[in-house]
Amino acid sequence: MNKFPRSAYVHIPFCHRRCFYCDFAVIPLGNKVETLQGYGSKTVKEYLNFLHKEILSIKHKSSLSTIYVGGGTPSILDPKQIEDLIDLFKENYGIDYGAEISMEIDPASFNQDDLYGYINAGINRFSLGVQSFNNQILKKAGRRHLREDAERSCTWLKGVYDSGLIKSWSLDLIQNLPLSGFKEWQDDLKKAITFSPPHISIYDLNIENGTVFKKLENLGKLKLPSDEEAFRNSESTHFILKNIGYSRYEISNYSLPGHQSRHNRVYWSGLGWWSFGQGSTSSPWGEKLTRPRVSKEYKEWVIRQFELNLDSSLTNQDFVYGELDEKIMLGLRLKEGIDIYKFFEEQNWENKKLEINFRKLLSKWERFLESGLLVRKGNRFFLSDPKGMELSNQILISMFEWWDEIN
Ligand code: SF4
Repeated sequence: MNKFPRSAYVHIPFCHRRCFYCDFAVIPLGNKVETLQGYGSKTVKEYLNFLHKEILSIKHKSSLSTIYVGGGTPSILDPKQIEDLIDLFKENYGIDYGAEISMEIDPASFNQDDLYGYINAGINRFSLGVQSFNNQILKKAGRRHLREDAERSCTWLKGVYDSGLIKSWSLDLIQNLPLSGFKEWQDDLKKAITFSPPHISIYDLNIENGTVFKKLENLGKLKLPSDEEAFRNSESTHFILKNIGYSRYEISNYSLPGHQSRHNRVYWSGLGWWSFGQGSTSSPWGEKLTRPRVSKEYKEWVIRQFELNLDSSLTNQDFVYGELDEKIMLGLRLKEGIDIYKFFEEQNWENKKLEINFRKLLSKWERFLESGLLVRKGNRFFLSDPKGMELSNQILISMFEWWDEIN
């Protein structure tokens, strides 16, 4: 069996500017960035040089079945730069026939020629960061694009998908942004489905430290939908999308049959993946390795890998992925949930210990099973939809308590 990761994530940290809710490792380059020549090109080219070096530094290269170019705003890059990246993988790792090669793109950061350029470079799935179609909401969130940009991008993507040039695309929205009450959310969702995207990601807004939203929250100036409104929003999302054939295969992801994101399933299923670029986290064999989030430190880190002849992939191939609590947390995000005994057996606990630990976990989860948030079928546990998926935090907190107690 091939033990080497078959998936690679590539981080492109550049954005035009930082959105008010975002705490990712990004480098804002301003509005007029030009990545081949002119403004911003030096920074981008220098970063790509290091990124290429890092990709080549892996000793155990193996053929890939998914590649995901994320960010940041990868569509800031010129198609030629994306092509060079894909070619680097093709020539040094190999890319499987039928591989899923995804790229995140933002409205107003690419035109139709760029889109065809990315497709010619090998991208066959796009994830479009629409977030909202409402100009007031977009402005309040510090987004750079307008409703018209989002609509235009969706129309282009629908066109290339309908004509068979790409395998799939995702329309990404953020739920519970400021000003997004029940009516506004319904409008956003209804607008989104007019473009029939085969995949829809719906992320819940999180207020992260160091963001403009956090500052506003501290000043008491961030007005978000109430918990009740947020729950109504989620519930309506579930019913609207389910009624027209979408399946919620993961807490934040809906798809039509055959359009689940293969790459993201790798993260949730605990399979290994490579990762390249500033601030990104790889986990080839369970151990996680996060690269520095600051450019200078990332570059020094890449050089160190070379000078010390280190392998940024790590070499401990006997390590089985993740701690049990993390496996349970990720597994419960998926519609099919987890086979708890399978996870327990991987711990190599003797029978008695396994049974005791199982009973202790069951006692923590009893109330969730009774209230229907959590469902048990044999040894399989999964969240009910929509209630369990919306309130998964309570279930996870009790699981983490259990994990602390037994360790
Ligand atoms: S475009 Fe995306 S990555 Fe860039 S700042 Fe906005 S949310 Fe963050």
